[in-house]
Amino acid sequence: MLFSRTFIPTAREAPKGLSDPAVARMARAGYAAADVETGELSLLPLGSMLWEGIAGTFFDLAREAGIQMVDFNEIASDSLSVAARYVKSYRQLPLSFASGNPRRIDACGFAAGAGEAALQRDGFLDTVRKICREAGLSPRDGRTIEEERSYVALAVDKGSWHSKEGFVCRSCDWCGDDAAPVYPTVRPSGEEAHLEEVETPGADTIAELCRQLGITPDRTLKTLFYAAEQGTDKEILAVLTRGDHQVNDRKLSHALGGVVVRFADPLEIREAVGDLAGYLGPVGLPAGIRILADRHIEGSSRLVAGANRPGFHLLNACWGRDYKASDTADLVSLQEGFPCPLCGSPIAASYLRSVAVAVTDPGPSPLTFQDEGGALSKAHRWEGTFCVTPLALTLAGGERIPPRFAPLDVNVLVTSMRNDDAVGLGNILAERLEEKGFRVLLDDRDERAGVKFSDAELIGLPVTIVVGREASEGVVEAWKPDGNREELPADAVVELVSHWSR
Ligand SMILES: [Zn+2]
Repeated sequence: MLFSRTFIPTAREAPKGLSDPAVARMARAGYAAADVETGELSLLPLGSMLWEGIAGTFFDLAREAGIQMVDFNEIASDSLSVAARYVKSYRQLPLSFASGNPRRIDACGFAAGAGEAALQRDGFLDTVRKICREAGLSPRDGRTIEEERSYVALAVDKGSWHSKEGFVCRSCDWCGDDAAPVYPTVRPSGEEAHLEEVETPGADTIAELCRQLGITPDRTLKTLFYAAEQGTDKEILAVLTRGDHQVNDRKLSHALGGVVVRFADPLEIREAVGDLAGYLGPVGLPAGIRILADRHIEGSSRLVAGANRPGFHLLNACWGRDYKASDTADLVSLQEGFPCPLCGSPIAASYLRSVAVAVTDPGPSPLTFQDEGGALSKAHRWEGTFCVTPLALTLAGGERIPPRFAPLDVNVLVTSMRNDDAVGLGNILAERLEEKGFRVLLDDRDERAGVKFSDAELIGLPVTIVVGREASEGVVEAWKPDGNREELPADAVVELVSHWSR
């Protein structure tokens, strides 16, 4: 491939306002054009090759996992209509398809049993994890609370495109967002003591309450009133969490079966609980009101709660003795330091780029087949999506693109187009390398050597062969992926490139 005939618009500076160093690098190296306003990337020839290489690797590995490549317009509906037409018996299952383009690949499949569908889904996610590892990245596993979607994500720096705030475990591969499912591993304990009312004037905040009583926020109980709405139905309910925790609206909505939730206003609260005033608490609430407690509250004793009386709190409020919850659920947002749901190590805040997501039985599956006993049975379904861009950007943000994913194998850089020996030797080397199956960029531009050198560093192909002054003696310089440079006879170039490329 001739550099002079290929659109690789390298630039000294990245577009202004780019927060993501990987995107900045792609833009400077002429792989992609980035729109800072919209966050859109347009892939130029080198970027296109990088993205295609990742998608191609996915297709190769997915085939090994039993996922078959097809070309469907709408994978979910087309695969269903194809399967409905051809699948008659359990012998034809499981059946998994993938279809897509270099930016996004969708996959789905059918299986006779739920377990088998989950295995197929895991095979899909494993394929994505494998690509991440081959690219030198550490994939992390997450799960959403709604529909139990599983996903694969990469931990990235703040400001990275296609990323959002989340958490990672310091000891295992777990990751999650603030609504990730969490189960308290240790319940607050302590000996029971008498319920006691104390005066707490002006303790309108947890911080002030803690200051007055000389306690930490994890010893307090928050009582919040929410309105749960569905259509024209509205219910006012009380939600209990520890003072150091935050109610997560997504979790609350999920626990209530997907209804819309919001804070109740003062009038709604008065209508629900009557003439109670002051700091609200669960002790002595009217019997009709539903109390939903976060799991951290279950079994707790000696928490400080509002006394439902102006200027007073209760000490030693005890679960089951002084108040009862209608139900418990996982209701609070994850915070730094929470135990990892998998291994119990503390979690840390991070930014996450989701690479793939998958779910089993996303809806009723209309596909029927004859099972082993001859009876008509419904197939189980799974669906997944692999987004190439987040992976490509993370990969491009590293030190160097791994040879396996590099858009081309070698850059043959002729330092001066006025040096006939160099031009001749450059052409011969490019030809020889191409004959051996390597993908070559021949820098034949009539530019200063310095420009070509800095472009070669930006573009970052695994190997660069510099053909310069010593071309007449048949000597060139090789820039190797380990960062070292060495002079070598032109005859040894093919061997060196074979050694370092994929
Ligand atoms: Zn962990």
